[in-house]
This record gives sequence, structure tokens and C-alpha cells, in this order.
Amino acid sequence: MEKWPIGVFTSIDAGLGVKLEVAHELGVPTIQLHAPAPSTRTAENAGAFLEKLQGLGIELTCVFGGFDGESYADIPTVIDTVGLVPPETRAARTAEMKEISDFAKMLHCDVVALHLGFVPHDTSSQLYEDVVAVTRDLLDHCKANGQNLHLETGQETAEGLVQFIDDVARDNLFVNFDPANMILYGTGEPIEALKKIGNRVRSIHCKDGKWADNPGKEWGQEVPLGDGDVGMENYLRTLQEIGYEGPLTIEREIPQEPERQKQEIGHAVSLLTELKAKIL
Ligand code: MG
Repeated sequence: MEKWPIGVFTSIDAGLGVKLEVAHELGVPTIQLHAPAPSTRTAENAGAFLEKLQGLGIELTCVFGGFDGESYADIPTVIDTVGLVPPETRAARTAEMKEISDFAKMLHCDVVALHLGFVPHDTSSQLYEDVVAVTRDLLDHCKANGQNLHLETGQETAEGLVQFIDDVARDNLFVNFDPANMILYGTGEPIEALKKIGNRVRSIHCKDGKWADNPGKEWGQEVPLGDGDVGMENYLRTLQEIGYEGPLTIEREIPQEPERQKQEIGHAVSLLTELKAKIL
């Protein structure tokens, strides 16, 4: 794979992301895929999807897990509903995430990713210990499938995330860095965070956002790439500095407005292409 191929976050029938056709129309060579609904995750569908990807010359670089009942309505709701942290849904979601790992294997994809949820800040708490244990369990399943697991950033500070990864202590746990999430959740200045997480970053999102008036208490605002507070040129230069060579995967979460979404992703492709030419 060339250095920094452009990518886009896609979905089939569940979750966020644009349709595969949009990636094709925009000439984007790589995608991340939000895992489809359970009924769609069959060997037959995987085969058909692989064939489609090969026909379009598009490479799948990561399969993202997501679960029914997750809501990003506001920060307290994220704490209560997202990922493997909430105890009441943990067992069922862990089982589902393992199925998603198996489905990704059918797609010949060696990276799966997810929002783990809000990892408790008190590292001596029982909840923290339980989240470490469930993450190890999932990682061992992924390892048997020849896969790495990438944690999406946002809910933790860079220091918190690095500490968690060190505490889990498995060699297939890495980070999907999303600079906008650091701003939206108010968990830290994204460029500084990127430097701290460093070579643990193995996939990224190109997404932009603006700080909230009260970061960490209310949401920031997601905006088109280049219009927010990330600073795209600085972001790419920092990726260069930490030695990141993987895809630049554009994520724009306005699936309710598909036309605008496609137009803005097209603009993001142009912006990233320009910056790549300038930096590489
Ligand atoms: Mg993201």
C-alpha cells in the first residue's frame, strides 16, 4: 500500500458512514467498514462484499464494531450506553464483538476497532479491572483470528489511554486516533495527544470539530474537514513525525444528509490530496 492512501468510513446496513458506492464515485482507494447488522454477517454476504471490493479496486483496512442501544446524544448518555464498559450489556456485546471479529476475518481484514466506552479513571476500581479483563478476552479472540484491535479515541485523555493499553499488556492492542473526538469530548488538545500516543496509533480518522464552551460537560460541534479546530496541516505533519504510514480515513457523521455528506467528503478528499502533495 502506498503511504497515506485516502480512505472513507463506510457502512452497509447499520451504523454510520457512507455507502461503498460513494467511496467508488469519489475515487477513494481504501475504506473502513462499520460492521453490518447481525443478520447480514454471513459467509455468503462476506464473499459477495469481498468480490464487490475487488471489482472496484477498493481495499478494506478496518472493521468497526458498534452495538444496538448505543447513543451519542450527550456525554452522560455515552457513559451509560457505549461500548463494553456498561456492565449490564457487557457479556452480550463482547460475544457480538467476537462475531464481528470473525466476520472481519471472512473479509480478510486484520484490523477490528471499536469505541470501548468510558474507561473508569479510577484505575484501582473493580470496574476498571473488569474492563481490562474483558478487553484481554476480546484481544485473545482477535489474536486467534490474526487481528489487531484498535481503540477509537475520544473518551479518554491520551495519558489515560496509554495507561489502559499498558495495563491490558497485550501485543495486539492499538489506537484508532480521531482528532475531532478529542475536541468534541473535551479530552485534550489533539496534536499533543497524538504525540503522546505516538506509535500506538495504527489507524486514524480525518474528522474536524470545534470546542464546546464548556469542554467535557457538553459536546463540541463536528464540522466539515478543514473548518474546525484540529488544524489539518499540523495534524498530517504530526502523523509524519510519529511515523504513521496508514490510510487517512475521512469520517463525516451526517448520514441524515447524504447529499451534503458526499459533497463534504469530496471536499475533504481534495484537501487531503493537496496537503499530501505539500508534505510528502
Ligand atoms: Mg471517529
